Amino acid sequence: MENSGNEFDVIVVGAGIMGSCAAYQTAKRGHKTLLLEQFDFLHHRGSSHGESRTIRATYPEPYYADMVLQSSLLWEEAQLEIGYTVYYKTRQLDVGPSDDKSLLAVIDNCRSNSIEFRVLDHSQVVEEFSGKVALPQNWVAVVTELGGVIKPTKAVSTFQTLALRNGAVLKDNMEVCAITRREEDNAAGGGVLACTANGEKFYGKKCVVTAGAWTKKLLEKVTAGFDIPIQPLEATVCYWRIKEGFEMDYSIQGGFPTFASYGKLYVYGTPSLEYPGLIKVALHGGWSCDPDKRRWSMSSEPALAQLREWIRETFVGRVESDVPVVTQSCMYSMTPDEDFVIDFLGGEFGKDVVVAGGFSGHGFKMGPVVGRVLADLVLDGVAGVDMKHFTFARFKDNPRGNVKEFGDQVLSHSNPT
Ligand SMILES: Cc1cc2nc3c(=O)[nH]c(=O)nc-3n(C[C@H](O)[C@H](O)[C@H](O)COP(=O)(O)OP(=O)(O)OC[C@H]3O[C@@H](n4cnc5c(N)ncnc54)[C@H](O)[C@@H]3O)c2cc1C
Repeated sequence: MENSGNEFDVIVVGAGIMGSCAAYQTAKRGHKTLLLEQFDFLHHRGSSHGESRTIRATYPEPYYADMVLQSSLLWEEAQLEIGYTVYYKTRQLDVGPSDDKSLLAVIDNCRSNSIEFRVLDHSQVVEEFSGKVALPQNWVAVVTELGGVIKPTKAVSTFQTLALRNGAVLKDNMEVCAITRREEDNAAGGGVLACTANGEKFYGKKCVVTAGAWTKKLLEKVTAGFDIPIQPLEATVCYWRIKEGFEMDYSIQGGFPTFASYGKLYVYGTPSLEYPGLIKVALHGGWSCDPDKRRWSMSSEPALAQLREWIRETFVGRVESDVPVVTQSCMYSMTPDEDFVIDFLGGEFGKDVVVAGGFSGHGFKMGPVVGRVLADLVLDGVAGVDMKHFTFARFKDNPRGNVKEFGDQVLSHSNPT
């Protein structure tokens, strides 16, 4: 066959966590899979690089908790298959005002998903965390056992390795600039043609687009007039120094939890793990940007001021909160309602192209389950998860949602990472 070296059952565009997990799933099911990435593999320009991502089952929305439970099992399976650890377990601590609607919804969802939880008032928190954490009097804490840190770059590399082991072909420095219907006659009938900026052509019976912050740009090229409200945001992760003598108290080895705060702003963080003596505490949000023209700069001063105050009060002065010691830039792909987009592209592509994007700063933990759903959708046309919250169609009713402008920084109040 003339193009046989370039013929695949499934082409996956974008090798972040979602694309790598999808490629692993389709390859493992015996389908000839190609994973294409525009930059070097494991680059730092998208959303899936770095040293830590939180996994937690505590979501205000009922439909995510079950997905996290499934994903957590899939993370464990992948670890067994690869033979090393990417998922470091600890507890999850969610705090906020006792009447905070999101926090109350978290509690309801724990109950309905049989996730064990405890609600502590401010004095019980002092006792539970031996004075390392303090809350205002009218705040409560929800403690759950399913928390932890996933190592993102290591995890992406894990799924790429597993995809390779299952026969997938991986190619980097391949920017897909066009996805079209395959025109010429072919035995398979239909299918797609993916063309790259450096002149390569790949044919696939099916295609999965997992292009992260580039999703809108790519889909606008693929389907004229297609407008999808996935806004790239440049986000900053901040690490703060723990005061001498207290390093173990705030470390994962010392049992400190991953955490999120549902107060006036969303603050989230992970215990000290990747950088000894430093703890990650950051704000959920970022600056609107073009993913190809980033500023690579720090959080705005007003945002940092709020973080400082939160750290000082919550960690009882044991974490230095003058300036972050390490900062890292990362990319959010924000949808107006902060729910994911996982749907068929439709139109001329029907069910042959599936898109997954808009993970809105909380998708990493879901990578394995999203990969499975994408394989189900693209290979079988149906997924074993309720997809109604993830459709393109929903944007007709909610064009703006609850993303809130804060100076020139977009901060959010609904889904901490
Ligand atoms: C600061 C920060 C903190 C976060 N914290 C958490 C957390 O604690 N917990 C959690 O669950 N989630 C968290 N997230 C969110 C999570 O990291 C993302 O949801 C997830 O990484 C998104 O993965 P992705 O595969 O969709 O995107 P990406 O990782 O960006 O992958 C998309 C890939 O597609 C490639 N690509 C794009 N266009 C093309 C093209 N035309 N041709 C070829 N390749 C292309 C890109 O180069 C990129 O490699 C956080 C995100 C950030 C930025």
